[in-house]
Amino acid sequence: MPRPERIYRTEAIILRRQDFLEADRLLTLYTQTSGKIRAIAKGSRKMNSRQLGHVELFTRAIMLIAHGRELHVVSQSELVEPFLPLREDLTRGAYANYIGELVENFSEFEEQNEKLFDLFNDALGWLSETECDLRLVTRYFELHLLKLVGFQPSLFRCTMGQEELEPRDQFFAVLEGGAVCPDHVHEVQKALPLSLTALKTLRYMQKQPYDAVKLLRVSEQLHGELERTIQAYIVNILEKRLKSAEFIRRARRLE
Ligand SMILES: [Zn+2]
Repeated sequence: MPRPERIYRTEAIILRRQDFLEADRLLTLYTQTSGKIRAIAKGSRKMNSRQLGHVELFTRAIMLIAHGRELHVVSQSELVEPFLPLREDLTRGAYANYIGELVENFSEFEEQNEKLFDLFNDALGWLSETECDLRLVTRYFELHLLKLVGFQPSLFRCTMGQEELEPRDQFFAVLEGGAVCPDHVHEVQKALPLSLTALKTLRYMQKQPYDAVKLLRVSEQLHGELERTIQAYIVNILEKRLKSAEFIRRARRLE
């Protein structure tokens, strides 16, 4: 006997959309109730599709989803938040792409993580704000995402010796994912220099809410150091570079 279809309602953010058959779209969604799922939006490419007309990238919608035996099908979608600046501004869009790629890569299909949904939704909102430091939003998102998926970097004790770190320049152990002191740095395979200022900034971002973090004024040089450190760690965990991160770096060089 085939399993009966289950219909549920959930908030969902569109991570990816591909054309599918003649008039349909295949969506990758991050949902509040079921985590990452793939679902078909039937007829969503027809001009007059009233119920499914706005399945744009990074929009948040309330969706009615039928969970079939093999496929999820979106039967209704009601727009809640379009995050318009992310589609109208190429630079903001590039950062949103990167954040979306992280969510996609750090999540499993049909594994609920409501805190990750909230963080993703918040980050898209912060990237849409007129006055925002896009790189700061991104670093904050990375650190909190890492915590939610069990990869929080250790920033208060030496990763190798476990002693409390002294207030001086340290290193970051990329494979172990944490700060390491100059005395123990020879014990790790791959380390990057980590200035005391960068270490303090990372700690602050890890502990404080975004409303406090957004008031930080971060220099170009410090931004570079923070980005190199966190992304080296992320690349090591995912065992691959993310295309969207490379795109942001290339775009920045052209500015
Ligand atoms: Zn140490």
